[in-house]
Amino acid sequence: MKPVLMCCNVSVDFDGFYALQGADLNVYPHEVRFLIGPNGAGKTTLLDVICGKTRASSGKVLFYSHDITDMPEHKIVRMGISRKFQSPSIFHPLTVWENMELALKQDRGLFAVLRAKMSETDRDRIITLLQRIELLDYAHQKAGSLSHGQKQWLEIGMQLIQSPQLLLLDEPIAGMSAAEREHTGELIHEIARDCAVVIVEHDMDFVRRFSKQVTVMHEGKVLCEGTMEDIQQNEKVVEIYLGREEKAC
Ligand code: ADP
Ligand code: MG
Repeated sequence: MKPVLMCCNVSVDFDGFYALQGADLNVYPHEVRFLIGPNGAGKTTLLDVICGKTRASSGKVLFYSHDITDMPEHKIVRMGISRKFQSPSIFHPLTVWENMELALKQDRGLFAVLRAKMSETDRDRIITLLQRIELLDYAHQKAGSLSHGQKQWLEIGMQLIQSPQLLLLDEPIAGMSAAEREHTGELIHEIARDCAVVIVEHDMDFVRRFSKQVTVMHEGKVLCEGTMEDIQQNEKVVEIYLGREEKAC
């Protein structure tokens, strides 16, 4: 199977400090790939390079074999890569439904979107996605009144409306309740039916529960890849990351 995403030998130089030092990552269709590793390993920087927020100083990023390494961020979004940042970027005074409408018609202004009539197809698409993120019952509530977890789902729903081929999530469950985490894990696997997902996560219980393939990063490189069972056997991973977690518990 052809990879959706290939990061080949990617380095990032922040004024002499190498946050990435030859990172490689291949992600395949329908995959949910977890990225783990100690703080400062370069996980967020790798997502930043993929979505065009940070420039690679060397190496290549290919999306379905297209070289996107030097493409501007807005073009990368249009190619089908969507990035969710840690802080939600939803509009609190608008309803859940209005937020979804806005996401659907990103290229138009706020008032134009809210005044315009929606097509049946657009309406159905929003309803399907709101069902998927379990917010259909909240469609007419203000986004600002949602719980923290619901706000995160709304943002994921807003990303999905553009039908991306690759979704990048950076610690999406931070601050969520246990039930919200569980739902988010299930949601991510549902999403992967249509779209590959790369997810950075620190919560190892969550990774154990919802991962198949895990990539461990350390000092700007990929240290190893495999199932959680595989990587738990890797002495270096235990030394630099998992061992620390056990000590901390
Ligand atoms: P992770 O997400 O794995 O915790 P990051 O990718 O955020 O790691 O950071 C990797 C390293 O790069 C860290 O040492 C961090 O301090 C550094 N770094 C990240 N962004 C910048 C920046 N804009 N300028 C300088 N150093 C940075
Ligand atoms: Mg990070």
